[in-house]
Formats: sequence, C-alpha cells, structure tokens
Amino acid sequence: MMKILNYINGEWIEPNVAEYLDVVNPATGELLARTPVCGLDDVAAAAKAAAEAFPAWRQTPAQERIQYLFKLRDLMKSNMDEIARTIVEECGKTFDEAKAEMVRAIENVEIAGGIPMMMKGELSEDIAPGIDEMMIRQPVGVCATVCPFNFPGMIPFWYLPYALACGNTYIIKPSEKVPMTMQFIFKLVEQAGLPKGVINLVNGAKEAVDAILDHPAIRAVTFVGSSPVAKYIYRRSAEQGKRVQAQGGAKNPVVILPDADMEMAVKIVADSAFGCAGQRCLAVSWAVTVAEARDEFTEIMCDAAQSRVVGYGLEAGVQMGPVISQASRARVEGLIGLGAAEGATVCVDGRNAVVKNYERGAFVRPTVLANVRPESEMHRTEIFGPVLSLMHANTIDEALALVNGGPYGNQASIFTASGAAARRFRYEAEAGNIGVNIGVAAPMAFYPFSGWKDSFFGDLHGQGMDAVEFFTQKKVVVERWPKEWSRKF
Ligand code: NAD
Repeated sequence: MMKILNYINGEWIEPNVAEYLDVVNPATGELLARTPVCGLDDVAAAAKAAAEAFPAWRQTPAQERIQYLFKLRDLMKSNMDEIARTIVEECGKTFDEAKAEMVRAIENVEIAGGIPMMMKGELSEDIAPGIDEMMIRQPVGVCATVCPFNFPGMIPFWYLPYALACGNTYIIKPSEKVPMTMQFIFKLVEQAGLPKGVINLVNGAKEAVDAILDHPAIRAVTFVGSSPVAKYIYRRSAEQGKRVQAQGGAKNPVVILPDADMEMAVKIVADSAFGCAGQRCLAVSWAVTVAEARDEFTEIMCDAAQSRVVGYGLEAGVQMGPVISQASRARVEGLIGLGAAEGATVCVDGRNAVVKNYERGAFVRPTVLANVRPESEMHRTEIFGPVLSLMHANTIDEALALVNGGPYGNQASIFTASGAAARRFRYEAEAGNIGVNIGVAAPMAFYPFSGWKDSFFGDLHGQGMDAVEFFTQKKVVVERWPKEWSRKF
C-alpha cells in the first residue's frame, strides 16, 4: 500500500492526523492507499514555507525559473507510462486516456516556458514632456489549487506552471479520492531541483480546503470541481479578499443536424459521452437530434454504446473503465432509474454491469436514454457517468432553445455540414467551449479553458494568457525625469 505524505518545504512529511480515507482501485476493489485528512496545521506549514520561499523565487529571473519547468517537463515525459499507470489504478481510466491526460499536462508546462515573453510589461514614453508611464507585472505571492478526482495528473497543470514561472510559490491540494498521482509527480518536482518551499503538497478534504481559503498568506486560489463547491470556494475566498477562479460542473449538449455525417458524429459523440466513463467536464451528456436526424443517429448510437469494450484500463483493448467508486456507481444507476421513472425510454441499459475477473469493480456500462424531457429532474442533474440522454427538436431554433435552457455552460457542440448553421450555433450557444464536429472541445494550453454560467465562477480562466493575468498583478508607474536633470551628466 502506498503511503500518502505531504511535501512541505522540500521535505516529505508524514502528517499527524487521526482520520484517513481509503483510496480504492475502482476496477479491482483493491485498497491502494489511505489519504490523511490534513487540516489547519499542515496547510499553515505549507503556507509558511511558500511565503518564506517567495522573496527569493520572485527575484530569480524568469528565464532561470523556467529552466526548472523544462527539467520537470522532461521528467514527466520520460516517466509518462508510470504516471499513466498510477492514474489508471486510482482513477479507473484506460491507459490511453491516462496518457492523453499527461500529454495535456505537459503541453501546459511547455506553454508556460514562454512566460518571460508573456509577462513582459509596457512602456509609454513622454506621456507629458519628460514623463514616462509603464506597466509591470509582478507575482501575486502564495497561490493554491484545489483539485477534483477526474484528472489527477492534468488539472493542477492548468495553473501550476504559469504560477511558478510568473514568480509565485504554490500549494496543491489533490482530491482525497486520487492522491497517488501527485505523490509520483512530486517525486519528479523534487528531482527537478526546485528550491525548498516553492511548491508544496497538502493532502486531505474539506478541512484542508477551508484552511487554504482562510489562510491570510495565500493570496490566490484556483478550484476545479462540482458547482456547489465551486460557488462556496468562490464566495469564501472572495470574502477573504483573495483572487479566485472556480471551475464547476457541466451538462454538455450536442446538436445533430440532418446533414451531419452520421457515422462520424456517432463515433465522436460516443467517445465524448463514454470516454473516461463519462467523468469529464467536457463530456457530451445529452444530444438533441434535429428533424430527420433522429432515427439514424439513435440507431447507430445504441449500437456504439452496446459494443463498447468495458473493463480494467490496464488491459489491452479496453475502451472504458469503471466510475470512480461504488458510491458513484450507485448514484449514476439511481439517476438512470430516475430518468426511466420520469418517462424516458432506456434504450441501452448499463446498470448492474458485471465485468469478468473484476466483479468488485464500480462498472456502469454505456447507457442511452431516449425521449428525455428537458424539465425532468434527471436532465437537470449532472450525472458524471457514461450516460447519454437523447432529445428531439424540429428546428435549429428549438435545439438552440434547449441548449441555452440549462444552468451550465461548459461546452456545447454541433454536428453539421452547413457552415451557416455552425456559425449561428457558435454565435448563439451559451457555453465557454464550442465544438463544431468535435466531441470534446478541449482548448490547447495557449487558449483559456473557458466555461460560462454555473460552470464557472470568476473572471480569468486557467491556461495561457488568462493564467498569466491571474497569477500576476499589474503595477503602473509614472516617472518624471526632467531633461535639464540629465543634462547635468
Ligand atoms: P468535488 O466538488 O466533490 O471535489 C473537488 C475538490 O473539492 C476536492 O479536492 C474536495 O476535497 C474538495 N471539496 C469537496 N467538498 C468540499 C466542501 N464541501 N468544502 C470544501 N472543499 C470541498 O468534485 P469531484 O467529485 O472531485 O470532481 C467532479 C466534479 O468536477 C464534476 O462536477 C465535474 O464536472 C467537475 N469538473 C469540472 C471541470 C471544469 O473544468 N469545469 C473539470 C473537471 C471536473
């Protein structure tokens, strides 16, 4: 069993806590580790270390700071298979999905390597005779990220590389459900030789999060997780005067027009809805078929759902793993039952799945529900499992009304061969990430990971220039240097 430690001030520390939470392999049921439920003392120690490391780190030239990121990037690349195996074990993904996650993490480290250019300031000379004005960017100080379970290797890297490269120091709080990936990655952080205290790891759950939100030395907080917690993090951080961005949950629609390439649309939508067992904030969770798209799309989608190979992500040929826990499985199955009770037709039923040799696994097979009503409770709830709901609209106007009718706005996609329809959708859909003939519209690291409505609380997002803006504060300086003074020399 792996021992879960904190990493504070460059040392691995066994926290002194009374409570631990089990970390279970969701495919095998094996107990892998126990997460220490840390609280105020551990967060205070990490914040102290990060605050003490800050003055020297911010004075380290950006060009030197990014050399550590280059080292970390090389280490992440050369250890990719082992990190991916850890993600499969604790999170339940397939090996390919776990590697794809790490590719996105590394991409962010690479983009943050351009920080010296991204954080350079501006200068305007002679705004009045002999007076110049400049804007410089300075780091914010100690920053922290609170992570969800579903991308244990990638999500911290939407923020961390930018924050460090900009001269901030850092605390990461992984999800208590998947603490092992960060144990591994912090071994690489150690090998990269970052100065003590620049980056710290504290494990735990709500107590650790609350301690982060309330600690006066922590100046900025980023969060990714469910919407109710995101709202709470946003409010409580803001009350403490901190910078905050909080990514929330999702319920992502896709619109299928009759002119779409149906085979392609189904393949891509199935990968989106059932990939990572539907536990992706950009997963499509409901499809609106327009006019005569309905029958063909429904028929091919049901075949695709039924034929998906479900099993343990480390085995060859497996296309979908389990959901994160037995509790999650029970919740997802309950929501499928609720949908049926509310009048939906269960076309493909993934409940009560048994995978040979993995009878203790938290498996839900791909599920397709048709005739889902927009006002039903099942439709208003984020399922976060491999369940695709189908709805129907007669026109694109009706489809857009459905798309924009819900509280979330993380992603919306359309499948069509019509540029005009795609343009209208891109223009009118109320979501921060738009896909046109794309199932998972995940932005590259040089674009912000957007999100609207109840999927995001804040202003600046993760990744790219938004992250640089978030992790720096602007200082405007106005200087007078009368010409006659320089003539003295
Ligand atoms: P979660 O909200 O349960 O937990 C996320 C983090 O918050 C964890 O570190 C947890 O310890 C902490 N936490 C949980 N309850 C808390 C509380 N009451 N007070 C303070 N801290 C608390 O989310 P999860 O189940 O780990 O992740 C799945 C959710 O994350 C889904 O809703 C999914 O849509 C969302 N998500 C969103 C994005 C995005 O970019 N918008 C990306 C990934 C996941």
